[in-house]
Amino acid sequence: MNMRLSQRALRPDFQGEFTQMLLKGAILPGSVSFAGGLPNPAAFPARELAESARAVLLEPGAKALQYHDAQGFAPLRERIAERQTRKGIALAADEIIITNGSQQGLDVAAGVLLDENDPVLVEKPCYLAALQVFHGYGATVRGIAMDSEGAEPGAFAQALRQGRPKLFYTVPDFQNPTGLSYTEARRKTLAELARSSDLLVLEDNPYGDLCFSQAGGESGAARTSFQSLLGEGCLSLGSFSKIVSPGLRVGWLGCRNALLREALLGYKQRVDVQTGTFAQMVLEHYLRHNDLDAHIATIAALYRERAEWMLDAMERHFPEEVSWTRPEGGMFIWAELPQGLQSTRLAEEAAAAGVMIAAGDPFYEEERGVPGFRLNFTNSDADAIFRGIGILGGIIRRIIKERKP
Ligand code: PMP
Repeated sequence: MNMRLSQRALRPDFQGEFTQMLLKGAILPGSVSFAGGLPNPAAFPARELAESARAVLLEPGAKALQYHDAQGFAPLRERIAERQTRKGIALAADEIIITNGSQQGLDVAAGVLLDENDPVLVEKPCYLAALQVFHGYGATVRGIAMDSEGAEPGAFAQALRQGRPKLFYTVPDFQNPTGLSYTEARRKTLAELARSSDLLVLEDNPYGDLCFSQAGGESGAARTSFQSLLGEGCLSLGSFSKIVSPGLRVGWLGCRNALLREALLGYKQRVDVQTGTFAQMVLEHYLRHNDLDAHIATIAALYRERAEWMLDAMERHFPEEVSWTRPEGGMFIWAELPQGLQSTRLAEEAAAAGVMIAAGDPFYEEERGVPGFRLNFTNSDADAIFRGIGILGGIIRRIIKERKP
């Protein structure tokens, strides 16, 4: 048959192809993978979830297997609202829409906000599947350079003067891909700029809870969210993927504006009717009977140890011309080869040696042949980390040496 796909489906999808490749590579037997972004399975509360699954099938039983309304299971929304409010993010249960992971929240948000060619501001580098979503809706994506404190206010203000962006997409805590967090001052400056330009901020925060210090302070747990700074001027995305399990596919949209919330709800309903009732009820039961904060502290300790192993190994094996971030939470480290060297070449040579990394190009809208690359530290054991970083270090040294005359 002559299959006539839509123009939308025929659009090139660089980020999508890359993600497919990463997910396959992440499960390739025998290879060391720092490429994907998978949580460590040791962090899944499998036994507790099994108990919750059994319990909800017995009581409320049939209800857990029935259709539900599109906004989501009210007791779960109440738990999320209570938890967010405890973190200083005032959201009521009826301001929350349960989604199939935060990825669906992103898609639904883009679907109701973006027309073809609408300008969208993103961080540079940016979470690649967000770029994929914005491209899907035909948006014009503009990257704002990041420094160690967050997106640069100068570049942000300039982008606000060029055209009228519809939204600014940000991952302010332990960002994917850099692992960087915005400072308090930077959050306030950007929130003020957004407010004065009537620019909606789309805040995506799947990693904020995975804070290594747990101690608060500038880079600790007590970071001010754009949602709390901007209220109706912010749409927030949350997820249980990194703190309970990504396989449950439960995330949420937090939206204080009633008009926007109605539009989001209608769009979500059109796409999938609702997020699975069973997954929502299992999760709510799990949250009611277990201490999520204690569980998160266990995951953060597990990841902190792995981040330290990786940073130590990089210190030992990477030449001094290479620089990298020192994340205080989350799942990723971002490293940069010397200018002029391409991380795609490193990724290819490393893959041939059995080590997978995420080359930087798909995290950018325009730049290609970039020196940056992303390393995931959460899903490898000590042996894989030390061996893999050693192999990478050897390849990097050779690439640098070959370039020198
Ligand atoms: N946003 C960011 C920044 C992410 O890194 C991810 C997962 N890699 C997601 C959203 C989507 O996660 P999920 O749909 O599993 O909640």
